[in-house]
Amino acid sequence: MYIAKENRYETMTYRRCGRSGIKLPEISLGLWHNFGHSSSEQIARDMLRTAFDLGITHFDIANNYGPPPGSAESMFSRIMRLDLMPYRDELIISSKAGYDMWPGPYGNWGSRKYLVASCEASLRRCGLDYFDIFYHHRPDPETPLEETASALDYLVRSGKTLYIGLSNYGPAEAEAAFKLLRELGTPCLIHQSAYSMLRRAPENGLLNTCEQNGVGVICFSPLAGGLLTTRYLNGIPSDSRAGGSSPFLSAEQITPELLSVLVELNNIASERGQTLAQMALSWILRYDAVTSALIGASGAAQIEDCVKAVSAAGFSNEELKQIDVLIESLKG
Ligand code: NDP
Repeated sequence: MYIAKENRYETMTYRRCGRSGIKLPEISLGLWHNFGHSSSEQIARDMLRTAFDLGITHFDIANNYGPPPGSAESMFSRIMRLDLMPYRDELIISSKAGYDMWPGPYGNWGSRKYLVASCEASLRRCGLDYFDIFYHHRPDPETPLEETASALDYLVRSGKTLYIGLSNYGPAEAEAAFKLLRELGTPCLIHQSAYSMLRRAPENGLLNTCEQNGVGVICFSPLAGGLLTTRYLNGIPSDSRAGGSSPFLSAEQITPELLSVLVELNNIASERGQTLAQMALSWILRYDAVTSALIGASGAAQIEDCVKAVSAAGFSNEELKQIDVLIESLKG
């Protein structure tokens, strides 16, 4: 029987999520990769136990995670039942809907029909009574925002989720949605967007918009899917994301130019006494507006490595400049 480590809250730092009552760990764990049908359930179980033992109280899923879609929620459910259900009140569990989930016109995007049915199906697959956060996974250019907002409001009022979140909304779309939700009395807890040294779009307005609206920010793929780690510095391991069949990271993306920047970044990390992954996470967490860095992992040791970014030293202006110059050089 799994018994969580007694000292699990001693080393993690928790940040307040916007202007809300919720605090999230600086490092959260996502189940996008490595929780599908072809993944090892033993490794997945080990990762969730390790994460919780290290103070990671937030696990992030979505209806479509797998493959196939739905299988990450099912695997999570089995592991919850075996290990984590006694700790349900200590966990923030999120799921999402917004991408293609079932055939026909009602299995995608942002209609009330899709969001309500998908949230209910996700709860059944996860074996949970409620989510802590339910996200609209991406903006829908066709459904009126009022309809999406009112469906999210309904999900809170009907007890299916405690809070709602938005993901992949641009600054203007997010601002409009925050306003609608506030008017409905369902303040949005959090915004989830890609942010890493290699994907800096949130610096162009989104971080400010969220901060001004009192909404927390959780940054997904802070390690750029594994690029911002030592994983690829000496070739492409066959058990890595780029070495496998993930459509989201391919060997071709690891160009000689990118590799030489990664080597330089790794040198800066070493001088700071960090691994490259730890430095990439500390870099995300340098902004107060950022609540949590949402990592993925393929083994427990990676999670152990990543959490050491918590409470690391801040960056000198010189270090920040060196990093900016290296990243800028990739655009040339
Ligand atoms: P990361 O950028 O953190 O990449 C994770 C990968 O990095 C791991 O699978 C592993 O690669 C590698 N890695 C992690 N830690 C280490 C380490 N310490 N040393 C070496 N390599 C390491 O995040 P993901 O792209 O996986 O995304 C994280 C989460 O964000 C998802 O699970 C999901 O919850 C969320 N997300 C949300 C999206 C949205 O639209 N809202 C979109 C995408 C993600 P390897 O597998 O090769 O070992």
